[in-house]
Amino acid sequence: MTDRTNLFKSYMNAVGLNDMVENFINGKLIPGQGEKILLIDPFTGIKLTQYSDAGSNLTENACTASNSAQKVWMNEFSAAGRGQVMQRASLEISNNLENLAKLESIVSGKPIRDCRVEVSKVAEMFSYYGGWTDKLHGEVIPVPSGHLNYTIREPLGVIFQITPWNAPIFTAGWQIAPAIACGNGVVIKPSEFTPVTTVALVRYLETSGLPKGLVNVLCGLGSSTGQSAIKNELVRKVVFVGSPITGKKVAISASESLKPVVLELGGKSANIVFDDCDLEHACLGAQAAIFSGAGQSCVSGSRLLIQSSIYNKLTSMISSGMKSIKLGDPLDDTTEIGPISNLKQFNHIQNIIKMAKQEGANVSETSDLPEGGYFISPTVLTNLNNSSTPAQTEIFGPVVTAIPFETEDQAIAKANDTSFGLAGAVWTNNVGRAHRVASKVTAGTFWINSYKAIHVSSPFGGSLSSGFGRSSGLEALMEYTAPKSVWLDSAETPSISFGYVA
Ligand code: NAD
Repeated sequence: MTDRTNLFKSYMNAVGLNDMVENFINGKLIPGQGEKILLIDPFTGIKLTQYSDAGSNLTENACTASNSAQKVWMNEFSAAGRGQVMQRASLEISNNLENLAKLESIVSGKPIRDCRVEVSKVAEMFSYYGGWTDKLHGEVIPVPSGHLNYTIREPLGVIFQITPWNAPIFTAGWQIAPAIACGNGVVIKPSEFTPVTTVALVRYLETSGLPKGLVNVLCGLGSSTGQSAIKNELVRKVVFVGSPITGKKVAISASESLKPVVLELGGKSANIVFDDCDLEHACLGAQAAIFSGAGQSCVSGSRLLIQSSIYNKLTSMISSGMKSIKLGDPLDDTTEIGPISNLKQFNHIQNIIKMAKQEGANVSETSDLPEGGYFISPTVLTNLNNSSTPAQTEIFGPVVTAIPFETEDQAIAKANDTSFGLAGAVWTNNVGRAHRVASKVTAGTFWINSYKAIHVSSPFGGSLSSGFGRSSGLEALMEYTAPKSVWLDSAETPSISFGYVA
């Protein structure tokens, strides 16, 4: 057994799990029953463990448990009581931040400093949404017909959530917290590559006082376990975070039983730099936008649109700046970029870089990559246009395509010349221009002289191939509830007539 496998096991135990990857169903850790899945350490390429896909029987059990517990959550807890449990959960996550972050770092390959931030944001999510549980009231609507009409916001029931591997515990907290704050039950299936921190998180929710079975975790494959949960008749809504290609499959399956879906999908965000910006600041922003998290972020600034007058200067500033970015062991406090999270993604990125070369790109990379793991250098591609494969394909790696433009109109046209609509940014000191560009670029999130600023209180989501529906903020509460309109005849002499009365 390698040191790394031992470390993995010790952090599994530190967060209350057994050595093996297990599902969490109705308050119990239960091994899967299906196909075998390998968990590989992306830093060394060595096997950490092996586990079995959850399978359809456990999926059924998870949905049944969540359905029963959801009634307990709504009927036996007051709205404020649900909030108190969520505040305790927030504290429990904070108290276990370091162990959760270390386990996340080992399995995902994400630098430990990023994992600490992400776990702290999960604690913040439970605190934020815990504050909403007793404020989810409806409205009284002044209808004209002598009736009292009011709305109540009701939970939907069991929500099935599917998450990707790039920010596993962050994405789990991001979706579970608003769902349970609204009174729903949850069955969640994390990526097969990174299941364990979601299990640990949900176990901490239960030790904080959440009813057994309210949130259940299924570890395993989308094509089997994922599809069987989508089809389960107890599931009332499907929330999917992942790639557009899988998002389509999820939406098609959900539509067969008319289940609503939220799709949080990929991006190819334009990061637009005008020559009137603070260039040093924009250079740092452009690097952080694409290289942090090794570019494995849905909002990464992967298309860098640069005004022609500063194109050569900025691309060479970025290329020389990226040489000092530290790649290495994700558990090392000084590491800024870890390995790519899994071999499938590593191969995909390498393939796109190969295609970029075939399409005539000039490729700027750093040298001296750590050996053994799935490392890819920060990479700047120049001499490509906006219709090239690297500019149109979600690479989801530390690879930026730098494209020149002349005018503001051209910048906006190029920014919108993509199938995605997730995020974008502009760097300029011209306030009017900043607002003009922000209003004209198709994106759910847009930054001005900034990048990757996000908060649980602010809505997040996309359009086009980036999906639909919103997570975070007040909007997530709307996704996880449905309004019921209640009518009471308040006339002194109530009357019943055939047809509409309002
Ligand atoms: P993916 O689509 O391959 O997998 C996502 C999840 O879907 C996994 O849990 C997987 O097991 C499951 N899945 C796979 N096939 C399935 C099927 N047939 N039915 C049901 N579930 C299935 O995505 P990935 O490679 O894990 O993640 C990367 C993608 O996620 C990128 O496109 C990225 O942009 C996107 N992403 C989006 C956001 C956002 O908020 N918009 C956030 C993070 C990641």
